[in-house]
Amino acid sequence: MKIPLLDLQAQLEYLEDDLIQAVTRVVKSTRYIQGPEVTGLEEEIAHYCEVGHGIGVSSGTDALLISLMAIGVGQGDVVLTTPYSFFATMGVILRLGAVPIFADIDPQTFNIMPQNIAKILQADKDKTIKAILPVHLYGQCADMVEILKLAELYEVPVIEDAAQAIGAHYPMVTNDTVTDKPAGSMGLCGCFSFFPSKNLGGIGDGGMVVTQDKEIAQQLTLLRNHGAQPKYFHKMVGGNFRLDPIQAAALRVKLPYLNGWHKKRAENAARYKKLFEDTPLIKNDDIKLPFAVYEKTEDSGSMERNYHIYNQYVLRVKKRDTLRDWLVANNIGCEVYYPVPLHKQECLGSLASEISCPEAEKAAKETIALPIYPELTSVMQEYIVEKIVKFYA
Ligand SMILES: *Cc1c(COP(=O)(O)O)cnc(C)c1O
Repeated sequence: MKIPLLDLQAQLEYLEDDLIQAVTRVVKSTRYIQGPEVTGLEEEIAHYCEVGHGIGVSSGTDALLISLMAIGVGQGDVVLTTPYSFFATMGVILRLGAVPIFADIDPQTFNIMPQNIAKILQADKDKTIKAILPVHLYGQCADMVEILKLAELYEVPVIEDAAQAIGAHYPMVTNDTVTDKPAGSMGLCGCFSFFPSKNLGGIGDGGMVVTQDKEIAQQLTLLRNHGAQPKYFHKMVGGNFRLDPIQAAALRVKLPYLNGWHKKRAENAARYKKLFEDTPLIKNDDIKLPFAVYEKTEDSGSMERNYHIYNQYVLRVKKRDTLRDWLVANNIGCEVYYPVPLHKQECLGSLASEISCPEAEKAAKETIALPIYPELTSVMQEYIVEKIVKFYA
C-alpha cells in the first residue's frame, strides 16, 4: 500500500469539474487582475472568520509581510515570535530590517508560551518590541487569552499567523463569558495562506489578511497595490501583493467543503488515538499523541466548532529520524515540521549561536507528521499504525 502525506488527487474526484469551470469563468471574463472573484472570496472569508474585512494577497508570506508593514514595523524594530514555525514567520521580520526575538514554545502544543512572552515584554524597558506574532501551529490556536492580556498590558499589537488554522476556533474569555472565536479574528490582523497543503488550499499560491479594524484594512488595501490611490498617485511604498482571480475562483469552489474537511480530519485524529491506544507505544513512551487543549463541544446551533483543524497530525517520537526512514521505505508519507527551529537557521549568522530555546530545539528532533487528509481511510490508518508498531517492536 502507498499512502501519501497529502492526496490532492483524491479531492479532484469530486472537485475537478467545478475547478475547471471556475478557471474557465475567469478566462472568459477577461478580469485578470482583482475583480469580482477576488472581492467575492474576500467577503466570504471575512464572513467565515466573523470579521469585517478580508484583503486578498499573493501568499501567506505576503499576508504576514503587509500586516507588519501596515503597523509600521521597520528597520531596527523588534518583533516577538515563536521559534518553532515555518520560515515565513521569521523571514518577513528580517526582510523589513526588523529583528526577531523568540519566546520558547509549550512542549505539549508546540505553540508559543505566554509565560515566556511575559518575561521578554517585562525586560523590554525601551519598548523596542513593535508586534507579537504568534503562530497557530498545526491547526490549533495559541493561548490567545493570555497573549491578548499581555498585548493590552504592554500596548503591543498582535498579528496572528493563522496560515495553518483557518476555521479553527478558540474559546476566548472576556469579562467572564466564553465566546468561540475563529483563528485570525482575535488579533489586529489574522494572516492566512492558501498554499495547496493548507486545509483551504488553492491551485497555486494565495493568501489573505482579515481584520476588524477599518483603518488597517484601508492601509492593507493600499499596500497590496503599490500604495496607490488613485492609480499612479502613491501615498506610500507598498508592492504587488495582489491575489490572482484564478486562485480566488478556485478557492470559492473549495470553501463550502472546508468545514466538512475539518470534520473528517478530526475524525481521523480520533481514529489514530483509538488505534494507538490499543498498542503499547504510548505506555512505552515511544510516541506521544498530539495534545488538543480544547475538546470539541456540542455544536452551538448550526455552527461547527473545531478547536483543532489538524492541518498536520504531529507526533513526538523516539528515534525520529530512523522512524522517518522506515515509514518512507514502507511508502508511508511523512514529514518533519520543522527540523531546524527558526533561531538556529543559517541565515541568522552569528545570532543563531547566541539564542537558546530548548523546547523548540527538542521538538525539532522529535516531531513527525503522519497523513491526516480528509480522504484518508481507516484501512490506511490501521496500516500506518501497524507499521509504526512493527518499527518499535
Ligand atoms: C504556509 C505557512 C506560511 C506561508 O504561507 P505561503 O502561502 O506559503 O507563503 C506562513 N506561516 C506558516 C505557519 C505557514 O504554515
